[in-house]
Amino acid sequence: MEYRIVCIPGDGIGPEIVAEAVKVLQKVGEVFGHSFAFEDILMGGCSLDVHGVPLTDEALAKAQAADAVLLGAVGGNVGTSRWYQVAPNLRPEAALLRIRKEMGLFANIRPASLYPELASACPLKAEAAERGFDLVMMRELTGGVYFGEHSTSEENGERVAKDVMTYSETEIRRIAVKAFEIARKRRGKVTSVDKANVLDTSRLWRKVVEDVAKDYPDVTLEHMLVDNCAMQLVRDPAQFDVILTENMFGDILSDEASMVTGSIGMLPSASLGAGKSGLYEPIHGSAPDIAGKGIANPLATILSAAMLLRYSLDLDAEADAVERAVKEMLAEGFRTADIAAGAVPVGTEEMGRLVRERIRR
Ligand code: NAD
Repeated sequence: MEYRIVCIPGDGIGPEIVAEAVKVLQKVGEVFGHSFAFEDILMGGCSLDVHGVPLTDEALAKAQAADAVLLGAVGGNVGTSRWYQVAPNLRPEAALLRIRKEMGLFANIRPASLYPELASACPLKAEAAERGFDLVMMRELTGGVYFGEHSTSEENGERVAKDVMTYSETEIRRIAVKAFEIARKRRGKVTSVDKANVLDTSRLWRKVVEDVAKDYPDVTLEHMLVDNCAMQLVRDPAQFDVILTENMFGDILSDEASMVTGSIGMLPSASLGAGKSGLYEPIHGSAPDIAGKGIANPLATILSAAMLLRYSLDLDAEADAVERAVKEMLAEGFRTADIAAGAVPVGTEEMGRLVRERIRR
């Protein structure tokens, strides 16, 4: 069987890091006997230059038809790039919102794990850093207050602003199912995060999540209030396996979880919808300050490709092989400049080669 993967190299360091992830997937294909067909589409500033829009309908249709989509990053220097002298709906980042919406991606998954070899980059207290952690943040992506009604009006002689937060049972159920499915592939624990002491949406969230949990007796469910979770993430992140939460809480908590790892160039992400396909991308941006220098860290994109293997193609052993190769290479002391901390850094292509060489059954 041939897997069809659409690649979106994008802007800045995007083409450099996606090239390395593609070579890693090709190596996985050789070692495990799979065939991948890759097709590139333009998105972001590069598409704006050629087509006058950041994503064409034709490119979008290709992404929608693929088994999975691998994205580098889009966007340029917001202060100086010509890509920002256009209407907001034509900016490079508008394409990101469009592709997520049109692909129906409602679940954003961000693993945050601390590699023992990079513990010195972790801003936590030594005990917490030494213990390490390996958690997944699952954020609802298309509902909640960000997508509710927004208004500002005059009431009783002053300005009043409103943002409405809405969640339906269907929206909660479909992401809860994803969280339990993923917990099953990991250590079997879901922490559902809400503000059920104050919000009706949270009280419904809790009820629906408890209902879904009945179908997963092998997974442990706990509830945690969002303010406590923010604190626990810096006190003892090792207690978490899968954190399940709504859009705005997830927006804030996923950034917090990323920062406690201390290395932005290492963190992958996946956005999933109802089917098997998904969009896989590093959490960092297009890093225009280092684009074209051959020094960008490709590991977040390579680890995103590992998530693609696991979640869209159900190739778990292959995903494990990529993640193991990354760990081995770090344990041997190889680092790109962003995580070098005194070591002699290797470049983007070299880092990709070092990972490929360590991929085996
Ligand atoms: P950024 O993540 O691109 O860069 C922040 C800092 O981290 C920079 O110093 C950069 O050099 C460094 N960095 C990021 N990734 C790295 C890597 N792989 N290896 C080594 N160093 C790395 O964030 P920014 O500077 O705020 O944004 C730059 C552009 O990226 C903007 O146009 C922004 O809108 C866009 N952006 C795109 C996405 C996306 O495509 N999903 C996400 C975030 C930002």
